Amino acid sequence: MIRNPEEFSSFLDSLQKYCKLKLIPLEAEVALLDEVPADIVSDMANFGLFGFSIPETYGGFGMTTEELVLAAMELSQCSVAFRARVGTNTGIGSEALVADGSEFQKAKYLPRLASGEITGCFAITEPDAGSDAASLKTSAKKDGDSYILNGVKCFITNAPISDLFTVMARTDQNKPKANGVSAFLVERNTPGLNVGNPYKKMGQAGSPVSEVYFENCRIPASNLIGSEGEGFKTAMKVLNKQRIHLAALCIGPAIRMLDEIVKYTSSREQFGKPIGAFQLVQAMIADCQTEIYAAKALVLETARKRDAGEDVAMEASICKYFASEMCGRVADRCVQMLGGYGYISDNAIERFYRDVRLFRLYEGTSQIHQLNIARNTFKNAGLSLN
Ligand SMILES: Cc1cc2nc3c(=O)[nH]c(=O)nc-3n(C[C@H](O)[C@H](O)[C@H](O)COP(=O)(O)OP(=O)(O)OC[C@H]3O[C@@H](n4cnc5c(N)ncnc54)[C@H](O)[C@@H]3O)c2cc1C
Repeated sequence: MIRNPEEFSSFLDSLQKYCKLKLIPLEAEVALLDEVPADIVSDMANFGLFGFSIPETYGGFGMTTEELVLAAMELSQCSVAFRARVGTNTGIGSEALVADGSEFQKAKYLPRLASGEITGCFAITEPDAGSDAASLKTSAKKDGDSYILNGVKCFITNAPISDLFTVMARTDQNKPKANGVSAFLVERNTPGLNVGNPYKKMGQAGSPVSEVYFENCRIPASNLIGSEGEGFKTAMKVLNKQRIHLAALCIGPAIRMLDEIVKYTSSREQFGKPIGAFQLVQAMIADCQTEIYAAKALVLETARKRDAGEDVAMEASICKYFASEMCGRVADRCVQMLGGYGYISDNAIERFYRDVRLFRLYEGTSQIHQLNIARNTFKNAGLSLN
């Protein structure tokens, strides 16, 4: 649902201009520095990039799912580093609060997340609990008016620069799997919370990711989000929305790579002709365009269904699975069309090729989404495999 089509279309235009004129020219510098410089972060904050999905009452844009995916498709046409910098605040780092936070928690943190004054992150993954996230071991033990957290989280996007951590921890060791998990807010300066050094990664330079350690980390009991034992449900609400959002974030890079490669193949000549005139090259262009169009249609349809209040758990998996795999295929074809230059590290396509590989791994690997889609397909047919 788009609340005010005219206003929203002019917002998208200005976002497109902002990416083209401000962010894209800085991509190489950000990749080299391996960080988004502070002046750019405050410029992005002034533009409002941190508050897309945070309700208007708390200083955000309060975007509907359809608006969010359209904005994401624009923003993600520039280097992944920029949108990853704002992305936890507009997604997983604020969404648990938006979905299940108390009025007090929302008023305390959401305006600061929306303005970019603080950065949030979402910590569920552990060294022994990745795809099987419900087997997480980090514990949260009640002690009077506090909880005491112990455990290790890994692969946490923006942890090195986060001020606020949404943490999934086990409050009941006796309840199996998801039932014993609760969600907590932990502020960065809390004694007992430590953050590891940023990993050296294959791509996404400028987007810091690290481990997080909790050692007798005491937090006020009021930092529990929702009720004890309901944390996994909160996490699933966050991830279901985020999967549609992430699918949109896979479409922007694919659009950008196709734009770049269309220009390249129309000017690069071999055998006395632009390589774009060769039908085998045209087939790769057509496959990219077709898959981008299909992903867009899929994501927009799912976003609209979610805005209409429908259960889109399976569709969210379909979006994430298809769009992330599609983006990988587009990146691969575009490198192919660049020939040897596609392997040389001074162009956006080579960078995107490495950056977008992550999309198929996080927020549910492709295999986990395939399982989810198949499980729901059997369920919808009234069939059980147990
Ligand atoms: C750069 C980066 C940023 C991340 N950011 C965050 C973050 O901000 N917050 C957070 O909590 N987590 C984050 N993650 C973690 C990410 O979500 C996990 O890495 C992902 O869920 C996979 O878990 P795993 O790495 O332990 O792989 P595993 O679960 O060990 O999977 C390894 C392989 O086995 C396959 N596999 C596993 N189980 C099955 C099965 N049942 N059937 C078929 N195949 C299976 C997987 O598909 C995969 O191919 C991030 C990861 C990375 C790399």
